[in-house]
Amino acid sequence: MTFNRRAFIAAAAATASLAAPMVRAQSRPRVVVVGGGAGGATAARYIAKDSKGEIDVTLIEPSRAYYTCFFSNLYIGGFRQLDSLAHSYGTLAAEYGINVVHDWAVGVDRDARTVALAGGDRVPYDRLILSPGIDFIDGSVPGWDTSAQNAMPHAYKGGSQTELLKAQIESMPQGGTYVMVAPPNPYRCPPGPYERVSMVAHKLKAENPNAKILIVDPKQAFSKQALFQEGWDRHYAGMVERIGPDFGGANVSVDPAAMTVNVDGEVIKADVCNVIPAMKSGRICDMAGITEGNWAPVSGHTMQSRVDENIHVLGDATSQGDMPKSGFSANSQAKVAAMAVRGALTGSRVFPAKFSNTCWSLIDTNDGVKVGATYEATDEKIAKVDGFISQTGEDAALRRVTYEESLGWYAGITSDMFG
Ligand SMILES: Cc1cc2nc3c(=O)[nH]c(=O)nc-3n(C[C@H](O)[C@H](O)[C@H](O)COP(=O)(O)OP(=O)(O)OC[C@H]3O[C@@H](n4cnc5c(N)ncnc54)[C@H](O)[C@@H]3O)c2cc1C
Repeated sequence: MTFNRRAFIAAAAATASLAAPMVRAQSRPRVVVVGGGAGGATAARYIAKDSKGEIDVTLIEPSRAYYTCFFSNLYIGGFRQLDSLAHSYGTLAAEYGINVVHDWAVGVDRDARTVALAGGDRVPYDRLILSPGIDFIDGSVPGWDTSAQNAMPHAYKGGSQTELLKAQIESMPQGGTYVMVAPPNPYRCPPGPYERVSMVAHKLKAENPNAKILIVDPKQAFSKQALFQEGWDRHYAGMVERIGPDFGGANVSVDPAAMTVNVDGEVIKADVCNVIPAMKSGRICDMAGITEGNWAPVSGHTMQSRVDENIHVLGDATSQGDMPKSGFSANSQAKVAAMAVRGALTGSRVFPAKFSNTCWSLIDTNDGVKVGATYEATDEKIAKVDGFISQTGEDAALRRVTYEESLGWYAGITSDMFG
């Protein structure tokens, strides 16, 4: 193309009209969100949506597709397709104007208020929101580390690990043994391991009816225990056995090469071994210097870090009080944080923090149970106000309604996160 004077003037005018919003964009307050999961995607979307362009929102997330952990057990059980768990960030970018950056955050300079990315960039912020989920505590199950996760999957972060675990279950020899090493408290999704056992049992009952499931558990008790045990007796009689701490469930090591589990000196051969190690907040919280022990303490009023008021932390990574680490909780906390951040940066009205959570679990076809509560913020913590739980002995019609509720919840939360 020849570049004549008219084309030059037209090009200069186009550049000027592009430059104007750029200048304005840089003068807007900047919010950076690290982690595009239940907490981070919700917070980014609510801040962008409700500030109507007044706040510049950047979301940093390495994955191009988010595979929900919620309903991943249903995928293992054959009730969901893997594709139905995958969600992309395109709508957040296209319809909400969020700057979605696919990279890892590898450091936070709290004095300069910048986030360092693995790719080399530094992203400035006025407020930072961290919602990185969990990482595993090295050495919590002796013999296991992430180099062993192909032999002994955790399947406790969404996506490929879940697929691997399902494939291993499908390849189990007839009459084989599935061992789950359950995690100590606190961990993401308190009923998650036991819903998984239910879904594995559902699958094995159809495909490998003489197989056995052994849970090795360091905890005395677990979430919805009476409901799960009633369901296992009813649907999967004789298939599921649990070794609690009184019988050595807290004294466990594994040998991934030999596919053995050592429970208090007794060596058990596993055909599939699902090791769910002890957990802590996603590493970026340590890198930011905002953790105390394994978690990042926050104020329930705003989800602000108790270490740095320019940082809000959401979801599994936090220590906040009474809420369980769940996607529902992270989503609920994200809305409180989004309101607080908008209030701080644009002067919009802030209401007292209120939270809610419900965790549904599927035990067998149409046999759903739930536990939930509402919460409020006190100066000390997020405190439970009142709660509810399914009852043993409920009739099949109620259990079916409970399962159907969970389908509505999944559709609702994923559209609340991703638009
Ligand atoms: C088997 C299973 C079943 C579950 N079922 C339910 C259920 O039925 N209901 C329910 O409410 N909850 C359920 N959960 C729990 C739920 O998945 C988590 O509690 C929820 O995802 C927590 O949200 P989050 O935002 O804290 O973390 P996540 O949703 O894990 O999001 C964290 C994101 O941060 C990103 N990230 C991490 N580090 C960095 C970094 N340094 N830089 C950039 N990005 C980073 C990750 O890639 C990830 O996308 C289940 C969990 C499991 C494992």
